[in-house]
Amino acid sequence: MSQVVTRFAPSPTGYLHIGGARTALFSWAYAKKMGGEMLLRIEDTDRERSTDAAVTALINGLKWLGLDWSGEPISQFARATRHAEIAHELVKKGHAYYCYCSPAELDQMREEARASGKPPRYNGFWRDRDPGEAPEGVAPVIRIKAPLSGDIVVEDHVQGKVVFKAENLDDFIILRSDGTPTYMHAVVVDDHDMGVTHIIRGDDHLTNAARQIVIYNAMGWTIPEMAHIPLIHGPDGAKLSKRHGALGVEAYRQMGYLPEALRNYLARLGWSHGDDEIFSTDQMVDWFSLDGLNKGAARFDFVKLENINGHYIRESQPEYLYDVMVATAEELGRDEDLAGLRGNRETVLSALPELQPRAKTVLELIDLAQFIYAVRPIIADAAASALLTSDSQSLLGDVAETLRGLNEWNVPAIDAAMRTFAEAKGLKLGKVAQPLRAALTGRTVSPGIFEVMVLIGREETMARLADQTGA
Ligand code: GLU
Repeated sequence: MSQVVTRFAPSPTGYLHIGGARTALFSWAYAKKMGGEMLLRIEDTDRERSTDAAVTALINGLKWLGLDWSGEPISQFARATRHAEIAHELVKKGHAYYCYCSPAELDQMREEARASGKPPRYNGFWRDRDPGEAPEGVAPVIRIKAPLSGDIVVEDHVQGKVVFKAENLDDFIILRSDGTPTYMHAVVVDDHDMGVTHIIRGDDHLTNAARQIVIYNAMGWTIPEMAHIPLIHGPDGAKLSKRHGALGVEAYRQMGYLPEALRNYLARLGWSHGDDEIFSTDQMVDWFSLDGLNKGAARFDFVKLENINGHYIRESQPEYLYDVMVATAEELGRDEDLAGLRGNRETVLSALPELQPRAKTVLELIDLAQFIYAVRPIIADAAASALLTSDSQSLLGDVAETLRGLNEWNVPAIDAAMRTFAEAKGLKLGKVAQPLRAALTGRTVSPGIFEVMVLIGREETMARLADQTGA
């Protein structure tokens, strides 16, 4: 078998949306699995939308997700001459023809079809007409001769055998009167010229596949294998909306998801390997097959994504997470966090193993790390404020007194002193630890509070306590 070549063919809309990211992931994984390659084709024929910024956003999205492709991205627009050449070749072969119908004539045709209860479409007016009848001065379009009867069959790896009745396909345009190709035609010529062996894309392209097959057959070209994957739906089964996650991948980065978590999650969204939920990308590639693509619509589930992200956060090296936290703070313009993280690298690194099990996103990690570099006086959040009653403030005054007497400042020494203190007061340790945490971190969730005290150091601990107790 020849080498597998897949392609990802996004239209540059300004970002790599989550559905496109999944299509790219599958195309990439299949190529990797088969020892082949994935190509990237930018479908930039809509010149208004296809700005350099939109193309850059796509490429950055793919790079962030860790999906690579072979060679340079191919511009569909740049290949317009080739598309026109093939359209004219089809005319020469007798598989396509010039059509000179005016918009008014086309409107009339549609009206007539509608009146007789048929779908509104082109009636083949110029299909067998003598070109000598062509009206003067009219630039024609080129239409393909679609089969008039029989079936057009899409053999699909996901959808199975999908049969389209030829009578439902009209002679669609492949080249416009200004010489530019239609989308349908450009895709076929590009896929053929790029040597694409496998097309993996959303099932919204399934009917296009039938039309594209007409062009393949007319040129005598081999039809690539096809896999049309069901689109991603919202948790309620409706079309994916922004609220449900129909966002660009950079929005996921900004929400604090790790690329490896998103890859894992997207892989499971429409593809499965038994009941496996968590797997590395290498594992996925190893397991990947078109047979594993699911036929049912996938439902986007933020809770699942968060859980998977939490898993990857727990498994990551602190050095890596630290870099992601810094990059995230920078991207979001969170200057205080950025300065705090940069200025306290070593402390953040040593705190991270304590923070990791408590966070599901990088944003939560940053929140949890804030106690390290928070500037006094610490502003308590609502839940922590509620713990700082006047009773607990006076308790904290006594705690400070005890801590002042310590000779050593480490977890075992603080732990022992606080236990003795609680016991003497007839309190459970938690009753001391809770207001202490609120006072020192401004939060109700943090690493072990004695670890916190060691991380921020003796001086800072005493100062934060003094801020609370007025001592
Ligand atoms: N450019 C099309 C899209 O973004 C994909 C075309 C294809 O995969 O054939 O939906």
